[in-house]
Amino acid sequence: MPSPSSDAACGICQKLALSKLAPVFENELWHVRPIDAPSGVPGWMMMVARRHVAGPAHFDEREVASFGPTWCHLQRVLLEVTGALRIYTAAMGESSPHFHGHLVPRFAEMPKEAKGWAVFDLERAAKAGEVMSDEAEVTRLTEAFRAALVKSPPLAP
Ligand SMILES: [Zn+2]
Repeated sequence: MPSPSSDAACGICQKLALSKLAPVFENELWHVRPIDAPSGVPGWMMMVARRHVAGPAHFDEREVASFGPTWCHLQRVLLEVTGALRIYTAAMGESSPHFHGHLVPRFAEMPKEAKGWAVFDLERAAKAGEVMSDEAEVTRLTEAFRAALVKSPPLAP
């Protein structure tokens, strides 16, 4: 059975252990939280593996069984909560030893009128100050997503 990684040299392990940012949802395998502020798009969430695992090619049996239902559930709930047209998804695995999938609401109106691949650049643009994040809306959507997942959590792994 996998257990969450605890590596003093890993920023994500530290963040998860100290709950510096309260998770929107968490179970034995996954941790769900908003992307670090400033967010390029309100409602931009990440589903993070609690252990060091590079990606789906390396998931163990439990992660394989849980990933699909959990991911699809998060997509459905985030779509409903945000009223977005769709939820963009990506996982690149460049910045941390924890698999982390991005869930990004694609609204009718987007910062910089971004769509397609350009949406993922809004993360960099927000950190560079090229787009202003609506912090009140980020908070509102984060709290709405949290409340919806309390009411209707993903299946336990
Ligand atoms: Zn770690």
